[in-house]
Amino acid sequence: MGAVRDFAAQLLSGAVRPEEQNPFTTFLGLEEYAPGIAFVSGFANAVAIDTGEGLIVVDTGSQLTGAMIHGAIRGWTRAPADTIVYTHGHADHVMGAFLWDDDSAGAGGARPTVIAHELVPKRFERYVKTAGYNAAINARQFRVPGLQWPTQYRQPDVLVSKAHTISKGGVTIELRHDRGETDDHLWAYVEPSRAICTGDLVIWASPNCGNPQKVQRYPLEWANALDAMRAKNARILFPGHGPAIEGEDVVREVLETSAALLRSLHDQCVALMNEGLALADVIARVRVDESLLAKPWLRPVYDEPEFILRNLWRLYGGWYDGNPAHLKPSHPDALANEVASLAGGATALIDRAEKLCAAGELRLACELAEWAGRASPEDAGIRARRAAIYRARAERETSLMARGVYEDAANK
Ligand SMILES: [Zn+2]
Repeated sequence: MGAVRDFAAQLLSGAVRPEEQNPFTTFLGLEEYAPGIAFVSGFANAVAIDTGEGLIVVDTGSQLTGAMIHGAIRGWTRAPADTIVYTHGHADHVMGAFLWDDDSAGAGGARPTVIAHELVPKRFERYVKTAGYNAAINARQFRVPGLQWPTQYRQPDVLVSKAHTISKGGVTIELRHDRGETDDHLWAYVEPSRAICTGDLVIWASPNCGNPQKVQRYPLEWANALDAMRAKNARILFPGHGPAIEGEDVVREVLETSAALLRSLHDQCVALMNEGLALADVIARVRVDESLLAKPWLRPVYDEPEFILRNLWRLYGGWYDGNPAHLKPSHPDALANEVASLAGGATALIDRAEKLCAAGELRLACELAEWAGRASPEDAGIRARRAAIYRARAERETSLMARGVYEDAANK
């Protein structure tokens, strides 16, 4: 077995836990899964299909990983690049496309045809408009200081609305659009190898369906997309991140349990919203099915269910959380000063925050530590104690998204 198959087997058997080695961010190189089909594990993965009548590449990697992915595929086949499919317009999946244009130009051929969903160009427009914001939040989320956000994108040549089929050299690739992590997702079913390229609808982690710093996600449509994939009865699943998965039974289980988790959160959240509950009470009342969350492909090592509930609230409701004090709140610094003066000073707040932290009451500890820091911004001692509380919180979180925010707060 190769490194990708080994890692999948270790995760599935429990020999390696996702908390020890996050499958979402692994780089394990290229492995062939069927004649003419190779998978490249490269943070955001790619799939290469050598049809005998030209090469089809599904996803191309990021600014940082595109060259590794291109090089790995070129070590496997020299077939001319014919078609590139973007499963969606996230920068970690599309930025390697320029390398394939260069590759074709170097070989004296026409550049490949890039196929994507019709909303991908709109996403690229938004990325250019909000490049500074995206640089800041991704630097925070991934802990990459100084991260640059791209403002030049390889635009698609063919736009897909709902479905599109590619047939070449005896290979058929059915592309289908469903909303889920994004509004511009395509997933692919490949015959005759019976493989599914899921894009980020499967990522070896609890779905990226809450993401506190990013735009709207679509949990129910995501679950429906996973059901449609399951109906294909595929033999191989190529996820957007993490190792490939082989075998009808395990592929079916991954798709079924991922859909069940999303549907359970969706249905509970909507039922509680319909009862008129406030957001905080919805979050307190929803029960996450721990047996689903325990699956190695659903561990909350990237996003997490609590954030999915907030995303659902935004999707079906608005930003008002049901607490009238939050409708037009005071500035947090003003509130911090008021609470500190009531408590007898910022030191009293940070003392109590540390006790709460030691008792494992990290939500309350952070609230008080934040007030203490804001009430005494020049006090280096309080700043260090506040930072220690956020660091303790970051260590106990499982999701990369929560850890990123808390570590960033600790470094402020
Ligand atoms: Zn991705």
